[in-house]
Amino acid sequence: ELEVALKVVIVGNGGVGKSSMIQRYCKGVFTKDYKKTIGVDFLERQIEVDGEEVRLMLWDTAGQEEFDAITKAYYRGAQACVLAFSTTDRDSFEAAHSWKLKVENECGEIPTVIVQNKIDLMDQTVVNPEEAELLARALGCKLIRTSVKEDLNVAAVFRHLASRCLAE
Ligand code: GDP
Ligand code: MG
Repeated sequence: ELEVALKVVIVGNGGVGKSSMIQRYCKGVFTKDYKKTIGVDFLERQIEVDGEEVRLMLWDTAGQEEFDAITKAYYRGAQACVLAFSTTDRDSFEAAHSWKLKVENECGEIPTVIVQNKIDLMDQTVVNPEEAELLARALGCKLIRTSVKEDLNVAAVFRHLASRCLAE
């Protein structure tokens, strides 16, 4: 039986919760001060989607996104993308458009989900719900609101992407 393996890149400004999301999904943990393990490019998790076994490889950055210095190797061969911003970081929301272009430049059109993370902090939101919907529509992507901290909707992000990739 053929095994499907998908490289997924997780992009967005520093601090939005990308590393935490990968840790949460692949290891089932949430820590306040996650520091990237040196030498590990990605974590993986296997799931069953639409009757198929899919191995998801979630690629993390070592913080280069803050310096706009993500290498081509990071994007190479990526088949799906999570584009994340934070409920409490306006800049991260406004950067979403340029992240989308960057991924398109490196990978072409690949299935992408826009993730609004940290919805456990909705009482401190700096992005109103309509704006988030409009952004997703403008970028032609599904919007999923998550809390990595509370483990809300994280699995749904990766199920959706895997399902989209299998359908292609
Ligand atoms: P990255 O720079 O995008 O990789 O972000 P990190 O994963 O390092 O997370 C940045 C900070 O946000 C850390 O202190 C995390 O614990 C915190 N964080 C991540 N996800 C959530 C969430 O859903 N809710 C809250 N309240 N904090 C979060
Ligand atoms: Mg990180």
